[in-house]
Amino acid sequence: MDNTKLLHALHNLQEVFVEKESELTALDREIGDGDHGVNMKRGFNAVKDKVAEGSTEDILKQTGMTLMSSIGGASGPLYGFSFVKMSEVAKDEIDAENLKQLIDVFAQTVSSKGKVTGGEKTMYDVISNAEKVLEESGRLKLEDLQKLADDTEDMIATKGRAAYFKEKSKGTIDPGAQSAVYILNAFDLEEE
Ligand code: ADP
Ligand code: MG
Ligand code: MG
Repeated sequence: MDNTKLLHALHNLQEVFVEKESELTALDREIGDGDHGVNMKRGFNAVKDKVAEGSTEDILKQTGMTLMSSIGGASGPLYGFSFVKMSEVAKDEIDAENLKQLIDVFAQTVSSKGKVTGGEKTMYDVISNAEKVLEESGRLKLEDLQKLADDTEDMIATKGRAAYFKEKSKGTIDPGAQSAVYILNAFDLEEE
């Protein structure tokens, strides 16, 4: 994946989040404040508007800065800062090896910024397990990532707004886990 493909994949997330807005809104209505669909759509609208040609490093950094400034809510700084940190390890050509590094940095950044670990029912549950998916299949296929988000359904949230729902957070997929599926899928090297 070179800079042109990366930019294309990130711009394409604008359409993805327009399509998935109602799904994410519905999840966040159950165990949050119902804005995750709007947040992600606003974030990637801004990415499509503002992030232009540059090196892979520039593109990831611009994306991070744009997400930080355009998404209100917990997910903005988590995704935004992660993209900025990923930019620091990005190669000009993102190959399988580099992709592994990027995902690793993504997970580490969310973990340290969100003070979160596995099983707390957040985006981290998808991001931290994506490396395994990548190792096993060499891909970041939607269906494999979706299984990771589905695994959050039975968890009890202990971070973010969903934590206020305690036991009642059980039975709903975490909204951020669901949006992380789409973001990670954009990095699937085989996908156009
Ligand atoms: P807000 O909760 O502020 O309205 P969003 O709805 O955009 O923000 O994002 C909610 C998502 O953010 C959650 O579903 C969860 O995945 C993620 N999240 C919230 N707090 C944390 C945290 N401390 N660590 C990791 N992820 C978190
Ligand atoms: Mg919310
Ligand atoms: Mg909110």
